[in-house]
Amino acid sequence: MAISIKKIFEKGSTSKFLVKGVTTTTMNAVRRSVMEEVPCLAIENVSIYANDSVMFDEFLAHRLGMLPIKTDAKGYKQGESVKLVLEKEGPCTVYSKDIKSTDPKIDVADKKIPITKLSKGQNLKIEMDAVMQSGKEHVKWQPAIIAYQELAAIESTKDCNACEECVKICPKNVLELKAKKVVLTDPLGCILCGACRDTCKQNALKINVEPETFLLMIETQGALTAKECLLMAITALKNKSKEFDKAILKIE
Ligand code: SF4
Ligand code: SF4
Repeated sequence: MAISIKKIFEKGSTSKFLVKGVTTTTMNAVRRSVMEEVPCLAIENVSIYANDSVMFDEFLAHRLGMLPIKTDAKGYKQGESVKLVLEKEGPCTVYSKDIKSTDPKIDVADKKIPITKLSKGQNLKIEMDAVMQSGKEHVKWQPAIIAYQELAAIESTKDCNACEECVKICPKNVLELKAKKVVLTDPLGCILCGACRDTCKQNALKINVEPETFLLMIETQGALTAKECLLMAITALKNKSKEFDKAILKIE
């Protein structure tokens, strides 16, 4: 089967893709590569010159470290960094939008994240390095949550007596009885819970999975798009494969 990938859903930072023509092993390699090998920017070094807020320096540094930083993946290599500055005077709530980048292509991905509050006369002055790194160093560099599932193929056998118990028990309402046969109306909606098969007293319902077909779900944290995450994950896998090639050639 030829490999194909089609976007079937996108809302905010969440995307879903229908992937065909690959094995579970490949899907898992891509998933792990996104989690561990795809670099993005996150705040690592924090220099606090003034902090009159009620929040301890360590708390502030931790909050800043978890902010999603929109990453120019082509402009920065692993280990490179960009300087960010946060300077505010109270009274105000300090938000992520108040952080200024020294590179116009780099910015905080979500502008509405509250960082701390300042009363009248209180000051905050912080310099930060956002460093390009990957998720195997720390989860703050993991650009997305990624998961996949197989797609169900459900059919009733000749022992089915059309009682409709399986249709009624399905928590996702994705089964129908048509011409005395049970039909899965929405394979993407089935969560493979097995309740339909387990309830059938005739043992007449078979749950299989579509061969080499997967639903892939990606929720990005804002640093990269889902497409960038996938492309960079594949590039990382290709590079590892080349290294493996070289290592094999060295065998005597
Ligand atoms: S529960 Fe079993 S017998 Fe009843 S409709 Fe479903 S498959 Fe057929
Ligand atoms: S496996 Fe679960 S979700 Fe899927 S059709 Fe059966 S009951 Fe519904």
